[in-house]
Amino acid sequence: MSYDLVVSGGTLVNAHGRMDADIAIEEDSIAAIGKRGSFGGDRIIDASDRYVLPGAIDPHTHHGIYNSLAADGDTESRSDLVGGVTTIGNFFRRPGPYTEIMADYFEEAEANYRHDYFFSLGLLSYEHIDEIPQIVDELGITSFKWYMNYKYVATEKFGVDCEMRDDWGDAFIQALANLDVPTTLGYHSENVEITSALGENPYLEVERDENQEYRGYEALVESFPDYAETQSMIAGAALARQHDYDGFYAVHISAGRTADELAKLQSSGWSITGETCTHYLTLTTEECDERHNVNPPVRSARNQEILWQRIADGTISTIGTDHCANLAEDKIGDDVPDSLPGFPSTATMLPLILSEGVNTGRISLERAVAITSTNTAKAWNLYPQKGSLEVGTDADLVVVDLDETRTVTPEVLQSSADYSPYEGREITGWPTHTIANGAVAYEDGEVLAEPGTGSHIDRPI
Ligand SMILES: [Zn+2]
Repeated sequence: MSYDLVVSGGTLVNAHGRMDADIAIEEDSIAAIGKRGSFGGDRIIDASDRYVLPGAIDPHTHHGIYNSLAADGDTESRSDLVGGVTTIGNFFRRPGPYTEIMADYFEEAEANYRHDYFFSLGLLSYEHIDEIPQIVDELGITSFKWYMNYKYVATEKFGVDCEMRDDWGDAFIQALANLDVPTTLGYHSENVEITSALGENPYLEVERDENQEYRGYEALVESFPDYAETQSMIAGAALARQHDYDGFYAVHISAGRTADELAKLQSSGWSITGETCTHYLTLTTEECDERHNVNPPVRSARNQEILWQRIADGTISTIGTDHCANLAEDKIGDDVPDSLPGFPSTATMLPLILSEGVNTGRISLERAVAITSTNTAKAWNLYPQKGSLEVGTDADLVVVDLDETRTVTPEVLQSSADYSPYEGREITGWPTHTIANGAVAYEDGEVLAEPGTGSHIDRPI
């Protein structure tokens, strides 16, 4: 039998194990997996001496905040494919009714993404909570975000008639718990009373005193202490538990102590998914400058080591990036706490996990697949359509060469961002081919997928 596309000679890796096998693709699905050399195809990719993984999923991006969604959908999905990412989850928040706002947003996405995507909506008001059933039914969106960092400032920042206090969050979780479909609640852990007291709230415009001395990265770490994240994560998870809600997902865990507390809660039977980001695993405070302004901030080497251990032992189960596409000129030259927050990092997600996780022996390749794809698909309700190499699933896969070393430059990454927080770093372990929806989307440095070839993933699957 002959297929559209065959990936031959590689070692297939799923979260539960690996095997030497060929993989046959027909249209946009995996049609067969079998003995090496057993399939003919219109095109055969030779994956000898390389590994074939399920396409990586970055569940945590912020496309459309510094540029239009149309622009980011095009350029950032191009960059994603360079790094083996074939699905992204983009966070979006805006006041006003989502059931009206989203039509334009879907249209911009549909015309521009080069791989599949899903959205998570940040709720900002009681009206948004009332809309949840319609959002799920009509828009196929089952994931949401509770931004603890907007507590008390939502009125000033968004013009909504809501301060996003805990009584509002309580209603939010109850509304999710009352649905009969699985949902995901991304939760930004931050005790904003504590962080606001230590520095001015970074989400409000504040006139800076021009004579004030330069505040470096340490100033950022001091205003966002680790325990303010840890305490908030526990408080949010406790509220979810009171309502028997099992979709609680702690985004971007930056602190070792948050991961340690998460382990204790999980071992007492609490259903909480923990995500960390590649910058907390591969950078330390001393290596950071204004390019790396992000909330929560990058912490010490000790924190980094604990996060790796908590990935290895299963406590932290997914990786995201908090990716956004901004420009160096908008960031460099300011005090660290005043520089534009966020940086680009989806394309380096999988290569950094391979380089600093697998190639250093911290985690197995199977664990790397779990945290970059399989667990992510399960946590965001994309599984089994996404997240594994199995017959009948979407043909999203990536062929990686664990021995290839490249130095990070913006040109390699092909984002619209003209810098990378990892610029100059040598990373070992890169995709040679990325296949999205059954088509060769990236090959040897060149992105082949056209804008508009990706689709929204309607959930629940
Ligand atoms: Zn984020």
